[in-house]
Amino acid sequence: MTETTRRDEIAAGLAEVEASIAEACRAAGRAREELTLIAVSKTYPASDVRLLAALGVTDVGENRDQEASAKVRECAGLDLTWHFIGQLQTNKARSVVGYADVVHSVDRPRLVTALSQEAVRAGREITCLVQVALDGDPGRGGARPADVAALAEALAAAPGVRLGGVMAVAPLGEEPGRAFARLREIAQVMRDAHPGADVISAGMSGDMSEAIANGATHLRVGTALLGRRKPLVR
Ligand SMILES: *Cc1c(COP(=O)(O)O)cnc(C)c1O
Repeated sequence: MTETTRRDEIAAGLAEVEASIAEACRAAGRAREELTLIAVSKTYPASDVRLLAALGVTDVGENRDQEASAKVRECAGLDLTWHFIGQLQTNKARSVVGYADVVHSVDRPRLVTALSQEAVRAGREITCLVQVALDGDPGRGGARPADVAALAEALAAAPGVRLGGVMAVAPLGEEPGRAFARLREIAQVMRDAHPGADVISAGMSGDMSEAIANGATHLRVGTALLGRRKPLVR
């Protein structure tokens, strides 16, 4: 039996993900070019990110600052777009602004202030998405739908940050398509007020097709590309 190399494993995962995306695009009458695939590399080493980059992946997502900042350093020279997708404490804003091109998890006014200050200080412009708690419970990250408009206004007004759109995770126990339909409405309201805010970050390994059917522009895919993560011990 021949030994499967890690490169072959990742190439196979990527081919499967691309096939699922193509199928969902066909079903939804959308073009593949409307979608950005973000490879979520949390818990996986920088060597995997290098393999993904060699296979043509351009966008990478991480959810913890410490892990992300080390990995970004190890991936220097790859010309990747880095997405920060995890819950973010204001005291980590300086570090995250140092490497992230897009922050998907803006969910409170203090975080807008912190990211703006640090971006200005670093001379960078960071695209920020408002994370929406589609179950209305901000406990696991995300703003209540009723608070989204004010956060969008704050991001649009603050220097150093650019309002990019919305992000959400489908709530447990709800059919993802229903949840993503609500996200699409929230995104439309935001875009009516802020025409450039056209990003809808939705869809993970288990619900890519529902997200694509509901207008997602950015998919955040980990498991389907890199394999099942070991449970995190913190
Ligand atoms: C881990 C993570 C993902 C990727 O999830 P998979 O199910 O492994 O594809 C997407 N979004 C966020 C916010 C995550 O934390």
